[in-house]
Amino acid sequence: PSLEVEGVEETNINVVVRCRGRNDREVKENSGVVVSTDGIKGKKVELSMGPSALSNKTYQFDKVFSPAADQGMVFDEVVAPILDEVLNGFNCTIFAYGQTGTGKTYTMSGDVTDVLPIPEAAGIIPRVLHTLFAKLGDDESEKVEHSVKCSFIELYNEELRDLLAADDTTKLKIFDEANKNGRTTTLIQGMEESHIKTASRGIKLLRDGSHKRQVAATKCNDLSSRSHTVFTITVYIKRSTDAGEDYVSSGKLNLVDLAGSENIQRSGAENKRAAEAGLINKSLLTLGRVINALVERSSHIPYRESKLTRLLQDSLGGRTKTCIIATLSPAKSNLEETISTLDYAFRAK
Ligand code: ADP
Ligand code: MG
Repeated sequence: PSLEVEGVEETNINVVVRCRGRNDREVKENSGVVVSTDGIKGKKVELSMGPSALSNKTYQFDKVFSPAADQGMVFDEVVAPILDEVLNGFNCTIFAYGQTGTGKTYTMSGDVTDVLPIPEAAGIIPRVLHTLFAKLGDDESEKVEHSVKCSFIELYNEELRDLLAADDTTKLKIFDEANKNGRTTTLIQGMEESHIKTASRGIKLLRDGSHKRQVAATKCNDLSSRSHTVFTITVYIKRSTDAGEDYVSSGKLNLVDLAGSENIQRSGAENKRAAEAGLINKSLLTLGRVINALVERSSHIPYRESKLTRLLQDSLGGRTKTCIIATLSPAKSNLEETISTLDYAFRAK
């Protein structure tokens, strides 16, 4: 029998915001700070839209991190509770959403140097790996067995590339398979899934896969801003009771570094010519629609309309947990993109 998780059928989507400090360019250009928050870790973000405070716009989210919030704080506040849900058998997804240059990759991966103690700039994925193996290792009981596997793929122009494969030129195919419960599971043909026994091993996979992505990105200019990456960690836990029965649970954590949100300007969303020219990122657009449909409890969730949402179908909606981390620049020069990022994030609440 499989271990039944307390049924939470409601959609569980958390939306948090993280604003970085101004970068050198923004400081040099004298671009003012237009984003303010209520403390290092609060719930509100306020935009200065004009000369008077009357035109300020305030948004409220589950959590809002100021530039002073470090990687460890984001992990402790946002990610650690989700990792616990994964160990309880839930499929969970964490997205980094935002304009290019606002800190999606910093938040998701950050410093991927494999040393101890863990580097201060290490992002979510290396911290998840360390914490996961620490937790599994703490469970000394012989009645518990576990295994962990990872995959790492990139999605660009609705095509999937395996960042763990030795030959990464083969394009992966997605297909659906009906399981015995009558639900469909989405499978990716030919995808590498590496069993890992240590955090180090997982961090190495992340580092090598990211390196491949960077090499490709220098050849193809817009690849890094227009592609999505999905790092998935699946955990199987087998518990034996004194009566000799085995209970198996599995949980999955998808860590998604999305394409730059500037790839779906609001005006562009309905613009047919832009769509035909491939200027609109279909997966990013569909993700927004899927999340809105889940939030509105719509009877039709358009999972099938993009590769990203098909890929994540078993981890979005139903008995799953989702967190969107919207990343922002504080600078006035990025205000327009910041507004559209916050609007997108706000609609997911
Ligand atoms: P994105 O992936 O959204 O395009 P990056 O993660 O590559 O953006 O971040 C752009 C630059 O800003 C990088 O040099 C990164 O190290 C830095 N950066 C982003 N967020 C932060 C932060 N919260 N603290 C310190 N540096 C940051
Ligand atoms: Mg990036």
